[in-house]
Amino acid sequence: MGPPGVGKGTQACGVAAHFGIPAISTGEIFRYHVKNQTPLGQQVSAIMSSGGYVPDEITNAIVAERLRLDDAAQGWLLDGYPRTAGQVEALDATMQASGEHLDAVISLTAETDLLVSRLLKRAEIEGRADDNAETIRHRMAVYHDATDPLLATYAERGLLVEVDGIGSIDEVSERITHALSVKLS
Ligand code: AMP
Repeated sequence: MGPPGVGKGTQACGVAAHFGIPAISTGEIFRYHVKNQTPLGQQVSAIMSSGGYVPDEITNAIVAERLRLDDAAQGWLLDGYPRTAGQVEALDATMQASGEHLDAVISLTAETDLLVSRLLKRAEIEGRADDNAETIRHRMAVYHDATDPLLATYAERGLLVEVDGIGSIDEVSERITHALSVKLS
């Protein structure tokens, strides 16, 4: 978990590779559908461009379905999910049904100003429609209102691992690996 631009996607891939499990990114799944203009893509395209959240019913169904695939049988890492209280509940229910549990929730932290400039730079490179100044501000606000409070929920459950997200990819990745080894030992 972490605010837009903090580097969740990059770090998720590294951590998942380290543990030999799939990194499942809801943002990536949605972007695939938008790019390929599937019915789901057409449904979520405008929401994503505005920087808002895709409704929980859609997001929860996609994650539940994805976690049932064979490659997720030995574990998984979710990137960018859950992002709302409703998604926390849905994930709890999905895991309860399959007899799974969370080992840890990684929270990557960084200053908002720095993230905004990172996102603007990424917009230039990747041309993402949800990365312009206005939508970035909106995405930060939505994160603050809907997702930031969920960290307290996971902290209360004793699952939260907070990691400073500022630094090189390798530095942050090392911090995560170290924090996780402490947490999981
Ligand atoms: P991300 O790549 O994780 O920043 O996600 C890009 C966009 O996809 C977000 O700004 C949302 O519009 C949508 N999205 C991704 N994950 C979720 C989620 N868990 N709940 C709702 N919308 C999501």
